[in-house]
Amino acid sequence: MTENSGAIGLFGGTFDPVHNGHLRVALDALDGLGLAEVRLLPARQNPLREIPGASAEQRRDLLVAAVTGEPGLRVDARELERDGPSYTVDTLASLRDELGATQPLVLMLGGDAFTGLTGWHRWRELFDLAHVVVLQRPGHTAKLASELAVETDARGTSVAADLHAQAAGRVMFWRVTQLEISSTDIRTRIAAGRSIRYLVPDPVHDTIQRLGLYRAADPARARA
Ligand code: ATP
Repeated sequence: MTENSGAIGLFGGTFDPVHNGHLRVALDALDGLGLAEVRLLPARQNPLREIPGASAEQRRDLLVAAVTGEPGLRVDARELERDGPSYTVDTLASLRDELGATQPLVLMLGGDAFTGLTGWHRWRELFDLAHVVVLQRPGHTAKLASELAVETDARGTSVAADLHAQAAGRVMFWRVTQLEISSTDIRTRIAAGRSIRYLVPDPVHDTIQRLGLYRAADPARARA
């Protein structure tokens, strides 16, 4: 058993831009799993997108605008501040260093990402550093590689309290109802001159409009 103020959820993504689908999942996890907070971690992005994206700083600013006023959600931009590739194992190690060995950490991963976990850099070490909650869409069950299935069987739990009782190492499949919203769709709508209101929080909508983000190809736009 550990003494702490509750498990911390970690939800990574490109967030280009953040939308209500992301925020609903983060809030559902906060409430449903009894987390102390959920951190949204913007990733460095692939510079070869077909539709213009926002710079790293703009994506971070949009996230900050999205979570302002929601005390359980916060932005952690450490991956943007680090040079070179952002491996999740490195991000978790840096959080572990900062927060201490006993702080429960919960890495939130989509079902697709989890299925591909064995291709990740030093993937087995992820379980030493954090719990993994796999966000499963109702009706979708993933076929896991056998070595991942072995890990999952050994570590599996369906009880949220287990995520608070130790710092790392459990795997939980958790059903979330996804809203049918994607960043790709939002970028496409803006590029086509259509509204994105009610798909993103109003402060995100207003910031995107004010900065003229995602409107048209602009090779000079800063990327990260
Ligand atoms: P893109 O359309 O650019 O691929 P995205 O909308 O999928 O972006 P990401 O930043 O790539 O957003 O996603 C970050 C995380 O949020 C991923 O784990 C992804 O599975 C999850 N996610 C994305 N959209 C939703 C949604 N509508 N509901 C729940 N989770 C979502």
